[in-house]
Amino acid sequence: MPKKVIQQQKDFFYTHQTLSLHWRKQALLKLKQGILKYEDKILQSLNLDLGKHPTEGFMSEISQVLMEIEHTLKLLPSYTKPKKVKSPLTHFMGKSQIIYEAYGVVLIISPWNYPFSLSISPLIGAIAGGNCAIVKPSEYTTYTQQVIQELLSACFDPQFISVATGDSQIVEQLIQEKPDYVFFTGSVRVGKIISSMCSKNLIPYTLELGGKSPCIVDESANLLLSAKRIVWGKFLNAGQTCIAPDYLLVHHQQKSKLIALLQEEIKHFFGKFPLTSQSLGHLISKAHFQRAIQLLDFNPSFGIVYGGEYDEAKQKLAPTLIDFGMLKNNPALEINLMQEEIFSPILPIFSYETLQECIEFIRGRQKPLALYVFTQNKHHQQSILHHLSFGGGCVNDCILHITNPHLPFGGVGDSGIGAYHGKYSIETFTHQKSIYFSPSLEPPLRYPPYDKPFFGLSKLY
Ligand code: NAD
Repeated sequence: MPKKVIQQQKDFFYTHQTLSLHWRKQALLKLKQGILKYEDKILQSLNLDLGKHPTEGFMSEISQVLMEIEHTLKLLPSYTKPKKVKSPLTHFMGKSQIIYEAYGVVLIISPWNYPFSLSISPLIGAIAGGNCAIVKPSEYTTYTQQVIQELLSACFDPQFISVATGDSQIVEQLIQEKPDYVFFTGSVRVGKIISSMCSKNLIPYTLELGGKSPCIVDESANLLLSAKRIVWGKFLNAGQTCIAPDYLLVHHQQKSKLIALLQEEIKHFFGKFPLTSQSLGHLISKAHFQRAIQLLDFNPSFGIVYGGEYDEAKQKLAPTLIDFGMLKNNPALEINLMQEEIFSPILPIFSYETLQECIEFIRGRQKPLALYVFTQNKHHQQSILHHLSFGGGCVNDCILHITNPHLPFGGVGDSGIGAYHGKYSIETFTHQKSIYFSPSLEPPLRYPPYDKPFFGLSKLY
């Protein structure tokens, strides 16, 4: 990476070429064509890095990005011109507008778990906003990082879009060079570091973080459908999904039925020997695999009811269900598995008696990135949706809120700051500049001396 890459991009940004509607459209179309051309290579690299089946790779990383491009192309015209807004009576005859101003050079820092889509999806917003961008993929996904580099350098001049490779050092160096915006996706721990680096330099930023996302199954839920959707959402990408259900809270009357159905669905999806299934991915590294195994190293009186087998050479852990018993006063809540984001194919299950118990439990912890509730009870739905704070989620499903480009995606509090996708991306990657066009004619209401009798009129407003 040449040293002052940010400055080079800033120089290019000030040629103003990236601002026109034509430029942004062409850039997004080029990106789309590039993705289609590199599709096989992208899927291969995802398979090498994470053991993702090509169908899963396409479904969870490529199709979403293609849909995002199409959606953004439709939105672009209304964001490349100023938006007129109303003016109050105090601004009589004046005109007001919002200009969606590109920040300049955006630094996109991405994680390893969805290494393609989480690098490219923010890039779509950055381009749509009229910016230049530097993409910094995770150092863990070496194959995907390589393909991203090939793809972006085939499509774009590095003065406009470039890729930076490396670990934390390159991030620190780039932030010191003062990009105009930082978009970070990753862990809460590193998010805090990024936040403090940006704050010191007064750089605006977005943090897309993680955490423990609860999944509630109440007494009215359709258990068969719930089991199928939970198993899919949890074990997708071997549990390494920021919005995977982290743990289950199930009504005590439903627990044994639900566990039996979860086991059936695991068998349907991954067969009797999941460690040999091509549909089950592997953990990203030896260290992440060891961490997952250690999470299972707890008091044996808590019961693993399914799975638990692993293959160290393949870095694979079978989908694992653990029945921890009742939620109330449970000592298992203190073990690492329930203190850290699990991020592996392990699903702890707790049973509860009243929904209020779940609400109080979740409220007592960090605000989740996602929350899922399986229920047919409208009153329960409303209580969960309106009495708990979390980034986003689904009723009677998992994961799918992230794939709708009409919905903003992001966390709240501990799980993140800011949101993106669709129009929310364009708004994230632009500064909304307020402009007031003042008329020459005006009532003489604001100028001193302030003891003129008509100043009383100002109270009318
Ligand atoms: P991470 O925070 O370790 O790394 C993310 C990025 O930050 C990488 O590119 C890495 O090189 C860089 N980085 C690491 N340490 C750094 C430091 N000290 N200073 C500057 N940069 C540094 O995250 P990860 O392990 O790659 O990804 C997993 C985490 O990401 C999980 O917590 C998951 O929940 C979260 N995540 C969130 C979302 C979301 O959309 N909210 C999506 C995917 C993953």
